[in-house]
Amino acid sequence: VSAIDGLIQELSRLPGIGRKTAQRLTYYLLKGSPEDSRRLARAIDRVVDEVTACSVCGNLTSDDPCEFCSSERRDASVLCVVEEASDIPAIEASSRFHGRYHVLGGKLSPLDGVGPDDLSIAALMRRLESGIQELIIATNPSVEGEATAAFIHRMVSSLQDLSVTRLARGLPVGGDLEYADGVTIAEAFAGRREM
Ligand SMILES: [Zn+2]
Repeated sequence: VSAIDGLIQELSRLPGIGRKTAQRLTYYLLKGSPEDSRRLARAIDRVVDEVTACSVCGNLTSDDPCEFCSSERRDASVLCVVEEASDIPAIEASSRFHGRYHVLGGKLSPLDGVGPDDLSIAALMRRLESGIQELIIATNPSVEGEATAAFIHRMVSSLQDLSVTRLARGLPVGGDLEYADGVTIAEAFAGRREM
């Protein structure tokens, strides 16, 4: 393929970007300064080279352990379980949560062949052995997200002195935490209830 078609193809593989948008972006870059395009290419290179999963919580980070796991100002007794690392910025934007995170790396989805062993549930169980008092399950309010929350709740039900809560409804059903606004997430945290 030609250089132009090659870039259009790569861009159109991104979520939410159809062929038309990919074409528009490609010609936008070609019209702009070469330095702007090179900076974009370097930024992509850099995340690929530098960013890894935090060895403690699974958050995506340039530093391992990540900023939340290494910060003394975060409450180590409260753990918030999310599906993806991309959910964390939305929760941080709510300024409502000051504990630490655990990233599952997806959600249970039997139809797609995703079972408990494909998620970091065993690592979560190990973390819960060390002084965690509250587990907030913040999986998405979708069918799979609810099933994942129920599964984790069953797994931890035998642990003593652990309070397990679920974010309040009010998040759009079937919606993604990632795209919810800070106020909505803050309300969901404030109204979280015991499972
Ligand atoms: Zn971490």
